[in-house]
Amino acid sequence: MCSVRPAGTLAHHISEDTNTSLEFRGEFSCPRCGKDYRWKRNLTRHLSKECGKEPAFQCHSCDYRSKHKQHMLRHIASRHAEQDPLM
Ligand SMILES: [Zn+2]
Ligand SMILES: [Zn+2]
Repeated sequence: MCSVRPAGTLAHHISEDTNTSLEFRGEFSCPRCGKDYRWKRNLTRHLSKECGKEPAFQCHSCDYRSKHKQHMLRHIASRHAEQDPLM
């Protein structure tokens, strides 16, 4: 029962992204995507680093989005190959 821990050297990598928002409703929700966060700093981090940046590549011909350029190129090649924009 002796819960003497080494003073916070063990910085646990909290992945608060995986919070089950079913059980808990964050006090801070993203105005853009509605994602809930318990702490404001996490929302701030989300806004500055995550929100709107995840789909880094947006297809110009449809709604397809991807984080990876390779996926986008493959998508364009397979779906929009005929509409190859010769600019
Ligand atoms: Zn967001
Ligand atoms: Zn597309």
